Formats: sequence, structure tokens, C-alpha cells
Amino acid sequence: MFPDLPQPALRLGFDPDALRSNWQALDRLSGQARAGAAVKADGYGLGAREVVPILHAAGCHDFFVAHWSEAHALLDVAAPGSVSVLHGPLTDADVAFAVASGTAPVINSLEQARRWRAGGGGRCHLMVDTGMNRLGVAMADLGDESVAALDVDVLLSHLVSAEEDTGFNAIQRDRWQQARAAVRHQRGSLANSAGIALGSDYHGDLTRPGIALYGGVPRAEMAGEIRQVVRPQAAILQVRNVAAGETIGYNATFTAAGPMRVGTIALGYADGYLRCWSGKGRFRANGQVLPVLGRVSMDLTVIDLSHAPALREGDWVTADYALPEASATTGLSQYELLTVLGHRFAR
Ligand SMILES: *Cc1c(COP(=O)(O)O)cnc(C)c1O
Repeated sequence: MFPDLPQPALRLGFDPDALRSNWQALDRLSGQARAGAAVKADGYGLGAREVVPILHAAGCHDFFVAHWSEAHALLDVAAPGSVSVLHGPLTDADVAFAVASGTAPVINSLEQARRWRAGGGGRCHLMVDTGMNRLGVAMADLGDESVAALDVDVLLSHLVSAEEDTGFNAIQRDRWQQARAAVRHQRGSLANSAGIALGSDYHGDLTRPGIALYGGVPRAEMAGEIRQVVRPQAAILQVRNVAAGETIGYNATFTAAGPMRVGTIALGYADGYLRCWSGKGRFRANGQVLPVLGRVSMDLTVIDLSHAPALREGDWVTADYALPEASATTGLSQYELLTVLGHRFAR
């Protein structure tokens, strides 16, 4: 018998009410359409096994992952038939798993359409390429017999720049509508989070928000609707006093102007708190702001405790990590800020 693992010194503060409220807001903004949820990349780093039951209880019935392994990891927490795999079936083994588990593939090519039919097929989704040139059946191939033979539930396409006001959004919308007229299907779906804000002719029957569920604000007009969901938190491992003229961390990029009290916390770039936060990040405890001093290292970051004399070893601090602001500070996208968060956080 091994002893139980003690609590780690690093955890991801997670607000299930905010997640629920964000899905409800996006479902409302989707008008006549229902909102599904993109939960790929382990629910954008939050933990798909935690996210899916919360969203299901809120009324979400359509979940999208990228890999078959991600669908497998959700089998015991998701309702049967509610998970779909965006990458589609690459091998006969993928088809067999989909059929046996009731997981719907998104068919992306004529090859995949034939493989799906040959393996027994059944309900599936169809991705049509309207301009991304990444995954999806080309508009010109929609008349192919392998497409006509599919039992398509959701006919989907994906917007290239929904977060921008560009004429390409309307071009893609028109192509998606042409595709809907050409292929028999149950439900149409086009909008990701940002696409929901483009209006009702982008909604179809099902929207597929991801980033905004988790606190991302891809378009300014959504700011008042979306709440922060995730807050990285770390314990202070050591408190020390630094004299004027001393430096902190690798490459001595910070020099103390006067005597100061600093804390070393159990968080570094290996956890996804990347080096771009060096000298720029801020933590908080009891309402006090605690700036990052010098370089972020692999497992450690040093913060200024000069204005927080009560903080001691073992106390917890919370990173400023509201996604729109964090993105502006670091130059990382709101998507990267979530998906880089590592495996050492208690979730
Ligand atoms: C990731 C993804 C989404 C969700 O996009 P967000 O911008 O995070 O809302 C929707 N549809 C597809 C096909 C995706 O790959």
C-alpha cells in the first residue's frame, strides 16, 4: 500500500456557476438554435470529464471533441450519442469504435464517407469546407454518391474569422446555405463562439461554442455576457527578504531598488505559466496585488510581497488570468492561455 498523495501546491480555481452561466448566455444568444459545446483538448484544458456533466445538466446535448481518445475518455460521463469526433474516422478501427460506442463521427472527406459506410455507418455528421481549407468535403464534391449515401444528422462548416468584421463571413454563410440545400440532413451548424454574435442567419439549428464557455471573449459585444471560469492558484513555498541591489531569478533581470519581501510560488512555465509573464504577471491575495519579479522559471515564479506583510509560507495566491486582459498582456491567444495549462494543477 502506498500512502495517499498529499494536496499539490498548485490548483486550477474553477467556477462551475460561471461555466453554466456562460453556456446559458450562449444558448440564449443562439436564438432559435441550441448551443452545443466544443470540449476538445480536454475541455480547453479545464478537464472535459468535469465540464461535460455540468453542461449536460444545464441542457447541452451536443459535445464535440477532436480525437477518438477524447471520446473514449468521456464514455462513462456523457449521455449516449452526445459526443461527436471532429477529426472523423481515419482507420477501420476508428469506425468500429464509433459504431460500438455510439459516437458520431464528423465525416470530412469522400474517403471517410466510404470508410464509414463500409464499416456499417449509421448516423454521422458532415463537415463541408467553405473556405478554411483544413478539414471538410469540398463544395464541388457534395454531389458524390458516397455523400448522398450518408445518414447526416448535423451538416456543419467552420468560420475562418468570425471574431473579425470581414466580408468572408457572409461568403462562408452563403456557401454553407448552398451546401444545406444540396445534402439531406437533420440539423445545420456554422457558428463557433464568435459566430454566435454574427446574427441569426449564422445560427442554423445548433451552435458550437468553445472558448466563450470557458471565459474567452472573442468579440467585444459578448464581454458583458461572459464570466471568468478559470483562475490558476499556487502556494507560496518560501518567503525571503531581499536587500537593495540584489537580483532575482535567472539572468538577473530584476534588481531590487530597496529592501523588499518576496515570495516564491510553485508555478512555472512547465505548468503553462509561460516566460512571457516574466516581469508582467500579477497575482492577488486578500485584495492585494503581487507583481511577478524577474523571469518565470520552469517550476517557480517569484512575486513581490512588499505590500502583503501577512502572507506566509503555505498561503495561496491567485494569478490575474481574465482571458481578454491576459491575452493583451502576453500576446498569447485566449485559446493558448487555456490549453497550455499543464498537468500538475489539481483540477
Ligand atoms: C474548436 C471548434 C469550435 C469552437 O470554436 P471556438 O472558437 O472555441 O468557439 C467549433 N467548431 C469546430 C469545428 C471547432 O474545431
